[in-house]
Amino acid sequence: MDFLVLFLFYLASVLMGLVLICICSKTHCSKGLVKGGAQIFSYIIPECLQRAMHRLLHYLFHTRNHSFIVLHLVLQGMVYTEYTWELFGYCQELEFSLYYLLLPYLLLIVNLFSFILTCVTNPGIITKANELLFLHVYEFDEVMFLKNVRCSTCDLRKPARSKHCSVCNWCVHRFDHHCVWVNNCIGAWNIRYFLIYLLTLTASAATVAIVSTAFLVHLVVMSDLYQETYIDDFGRLHIMDTVFLIQYLFLTFPRIVFMLGFVVVLSFLLGGYLCFAVYLAATNQTTNEWHRGDRAWCWRCPLVAWCPSAEPQIHQNIHSHGLWSNLQEIFLPAFPYHERKKQE
Ligand SMILES: [Zn+2]
Ligand SMILES: [Zn+2]
Repeated sequence: MDFLVLFLFYLASVLMGLVLICICSKTHCSKGLVKGGAQIFSYIIPECLQRAMHRLLHYLFHTRNHSFIVLHLVLQGMVYTEYTWELFGYCQELEFSLYYLLLPYLLLIVNLFSFILTCVTNPGIITKANELLFLHVYEFDEVMFLKNVRCSTCDLRKPARSKHCSVCNWCVHRFDHHCVWVNNCIGAWNIRYFLIYLLTLTASAATVAIVSTAFLVHLVVMSDLYQETYIDDFGRLHIMDTVFLIQYLFLTFPRIVFMLGFVVVLSFLLGGYLCFAVYLAATNQTTNEWHRGDRAWCWRCPLVAWCPSAEPQIHQNIHSHGLWSNLQEIFLPAFPYHERKKQE
């Protein structure tokens, strides 16, 4: 029983930690938290270990490498191996519909296909040859993106909505973010594959979670486990309650219950991120713009009056042309803005 409580506490802590990181990453308190955390660690951990950790973190998050791709495939492989090896057979014995059981495999095929495309597709790298073309795709809003600005690293003129990726060391057209899970930038030319990848990954995690839950519920109902009794450490007789039932299932099907816990947490995290990505696509914003737009909002707050150097600037999303047009821009290549104006 203690193990179950600790396990649930661990899952809740991981989930809460991730939610807190997501919330803090949008606020300025994250910098303070990171600084404070680093200071505490510097007192506890030996210097040589700190240097090794710093090197490892730098390698993982600030250089192009395949570590997260390997981790991604290992985790996905483990879930699907468990699904095929145990759950699929059990569900077939319980006469679950075969279409229902094959759905995760169909999602896996689409997911792997879009994953590969996201990894290998050029996100919209700006070069000397295409610099001029990209300069005419989006209008400059003169708040977030200014005309005639050069990238200090590439020395290329920066088109509106572009950004230099410090990990890949190139400027990307309609830069969204650098994704370590696909080891590539997400930009104008691969955002559509990324969205399909995210959608199918969420759907496959949710489908495996639903099948696992359906199997366990079916098993409990079929074998009338709720009617059973058990004797506790003090010799008292009890009717099976929910907590004891979960513990019983965990001990009988440890791999399936562990996988269920993992895919449930994953479904919520990916589902939340998918909603955010769909919101950005529907409003024609990139993650980079959403993040920078928050700072533009800060300049407009009442505290601006106390800061003589701050200039109140209002960022307005000038690229949104309605839901259909915004989605079209994700799934079809964008036109230079003067051509788009002619079309409208
Ligand atoms: Zn650059
Ligand atoms: Zn990148």
